[in-house]
Amino acid sequence: MSDPVLATRKTHSPLNILIFGGTGDANRIAEQLQHHYGNEVRIQLSLAGRTSAPSIPDGVLVRIGGFGGPDGIIRYIGSERIDLVIDATHPFASKISQNIAKACHAVLTPCIQYTRPAWTPEEGDNWILVNSLTEAAKILPDHGTRALIATGRQGLQNFEGLETTWLLVRSIEAPKQTFNIAWGDWIYARGPFSEDNERELIERYDIDVVVCKNSGGTASYGKILAARALGLPVIMVQRPAPQPVEQSASYDDVVQKVATHISAA
Ligand code: NAP
Repeated sequence: MSDPVLATRKTHSPLNILIFGGTGDANRIAEQLQHHYGNEVRIQLSLAGRTSAPSIPDGVLVRIGGFGGPDGIIRYIGSERIDLVIDATHPFASKISQNIAKACHAVLTPCIQYTRPAWTPEEGDNWILVNSLTEAAKILPDHGTRALIATGRQGLQNFEGLETTWLLVRSIEAPKQTFNIAWGDWIYARGPFSEDNERELIERYDIDVVVCKNSGGTASYGKILAARALGLPVIMVQRPAPQPVEQSASYDDVVQKVATHISAA
């Protein structure tokens, strides 16, 4: 005998889900939803178009580029008949998250914001908490003379002109806006980075302070472990506030929440 819920759903069209991505999390969520719900869902992934060769999960429709603000998202939700939006952008991509929440509220489209759990300090950590890259750059000279700047390629201008702190800037790709290091060096590298890799890098460049964002996750946690082991201070940029939409902090929880939307559709 067939499952009564699935039997009923077969007469409906699939739940149209728009996932905002640019993160591995968005790809994993898309894969899990496809795996669990198959033809019950139709998934589109929205990317900003920042990286030259983004990884995209198999079988997922992708659109690339900005929407021109909340009104563009509203138009897209309407024209594509989107039933549910999932914001799985990076915890620090605050502009797009604000725009998504604004657009979904305006047209009463349900929205789930997935945010991977933040890191929390453990014994041996010496974190200096700041609220922005501007603040991080301002206090940096008080905490070290040779810094690993592992904050990604955006906002590097904040560190421009620092003359008393030598900077080792690491990013996946070169920044789009020009950035001139007064004193320092660049490396281009893509994670994940293990504790051993990070420790070797820190020792090779004689780094005495690390600057990073509280991104959470495991891929970039190696630098936190290495700083702890070596007793180095970490200037930690804290996250922007979550949006006033349904919140989720695990893939399983997103999968369950989507089930509720499927049965309510
Ligand atoms: P942001 O400052 O919050 O957004 C700037 C603008 O980029 C948005 O207003 C929007 O343009 C467009 N945009 C961003 N994400 C988009 C998406 N998924 N689909 C369509 N348009 C998008 O974002 P950001 O910090 O520049 O991040 C850009 C992308 O890189 C995001 O997808 C994010 O997940 C990813 N990422 C960011 C970080 C980080 O540290 N910020 C780290 C890793 C990955 P319009 O206003 O024209 O719609």
